[in-house]
Amino acid sequence: MCVWEVNGLASIGYSDKSRRVKEIYDYTCQVCGTRLETPAGPYAEGAHIKPLGTPHNGPDIEANILCLCPNHHVLFDDGAIALTDDFGLLGIPGEPQLVLRHEIFLDFVSYHREHFGVLVKRAKGTFW
Ligand SMILES: [Zn+2]
Repeated sequence: MCVWEVNGLASIGYSDKSRRVKEIYDYTCQVCGTRLETPAGPYAEGAHIKPLGTPHNGPDIEANILCLCPNHHVLFDDGAIALTDDFGLLGIPGEPQLVLRHEIFLDFVSYHREHFGVLVKRAKGTFW
């Protein structure tokens, strides 16, 4: 399950935490560097690494949130991309590094990889 958030506009409003992470990255995707401009301001999404809600019960804290564009949010939630323990991007050719300006707990990264990274794993034919 994933929780979608809209900056300031509508109030599907989860947290200040998500907003804080988006502000750290100035609404720029940590994967591709895209910053979407809208008439209401820049748009990005707060993506929880270990998802909120059952059965995952990830926490709503900054160390569990990424600032992503909508495309990479979907790819991340669906396991088309995942992170290595040193924040390389599995599922993207050349495994570029995630842009990092805040602390992310590796527990969440490995949880996501184990639960959602199946497609990447299959594509690579390898395990971590
Ligand atoms: Zn992106």
